[in-house]
Amino acid sequence: MVVYAYRCVEHGVTEVSRAIGTATAVVPCPACDRAAARIYTAPRLSLGSSVRRALIDSTERTRDEPAVVSAPPPRRGPAVVARPPALRRLPRP
Ligand SMILES: [Zn+2]
Repeated sequence: MVVYAYRCVEHGVTEVSRAIGTATAVVPCPACDRAAARIYTAPRLSLGSSVRRALIDSTERTRDEPAVVSAPPPRRGPAVVARPPALRRLPRP
């Protein structure tokens, strides 16, 4: 099965799953039932696990659609450094 993409002028892209080579030039739009013309997209090749693909997709998306924030991240306090027990007995300045 292959996913073919079609675009309705009013409702955008619709994806239809069909066998290879059986794509038609138009399909009815599921929202308005008008003809949606086929569009050609890059093939979706598998790039490993779905987690890896999601990471790659989100990384690619930040190039064109960076996340918009409304405030800076919360400020963290000073770093707490754990002292080894052997150093606890040393005199402090
Ligand atoms: Zn439509």
